[in-house]
Amino acid sequence: MRFGVHVSIGKGLVAAVGTAKSLGCDAFQIFIGNPRGWKRNPLDEAEVAAFRQERHQSGLGPVVVHLSYLPNPAAADDELYEKSIKAIDKEYRRAVAIDADYFVVHAGKAGPQTIETALDKVATAVRTVLTRNEGRTRFLLENQAGAGTEVGGHLPQLAKVLKAVDYPERTGICVDTCHAFAAGYELRTKEGLDQLLTEVETTIGWSQLCLLHLNDALGERGSHLDRHTHIGQGQIGEAGFRLILSDPRLAGLTGILETPQKALEDDLKNLAVVRRLATGVAG
Ligand SMILES: [Zn+2]
Ligand SMILES: [Zn+2]
Repeated sequence: MRFGVHVSIGKGLVAAVGTAKSLGCDAFQIFIGNPRGWKRNPLDEAEVAAFRQERHQSGLGPVVVHLSYLPNPAAADDELYEKSIKAIDKEYRRAVAIDADYFVVHAGKAGPQTIETALDKVATAVRTVLTRNEGRTRFLLENQAGAGTEVGGHLPQLAKVLKAVDYPERTGICVDTCHAFAAGYELRTKEGLDQLLTEVETTIGWSQLCLLHLNDALGERGSHLDRHTHIGQGQIGEAGFRLILSDPRLAGLTGILETPQKALEDDLKNLAVVRRLATGVAG
């Protein structure tokens, strides 16, 4: 498995490649603008070119762009729904511009709507963006913890959306371990992990499982609490991650850490832990 972390673009896109490199990452994830705002200044063309070159030379990849927090592709409110599609379209275009491999989006919140209606809306939103844009950047839906009215906590829901979008080569899913565990999936036993992976196989299909987010969970299984913690220090624990990281069905994937970052050392420690657990070295 290749490993990476979510790195800041606070000092620019090119600096983000340097950060990932200095941490010893194989891959990395970024936001492509302020994750808590709607406004986007146009990307600087020279910076984009420099990023593409730097990234190419570094050998790092895949490069993942995570959608910002505000758009809701399932929104009940028409105005927010349209605004969300526009924002996702804009960010997807930016991801394509920097030649990202993956673009990760949460399926959003249903609010007062039925799950079915919400999932239809997500499918329409994703399909609209992919129809409007060309590009090799694959559009991934991420499973959620299922807090409140969040949709896409369970893989059959995401499978349904992907089927309706009907761009199998351009779409896929990202499985977040913390979210899966919080949504109720058991990841600490061989039987539990087998159940999840059988669900991947029968609903999504291996060709559409593209990426993992590796996060330990602060909340109990089924708590719907989306709170990440350091690998091995949460409820999934080292035993759970050892199972996940040594499973041959997942070995060809990339795992991105979105664990707490108070200092760069936090990322270094978590990367060391996942690498140790992946190789099965004791200690
Ligand atoms: Zn995630
Ligand atoms: Zn999360």
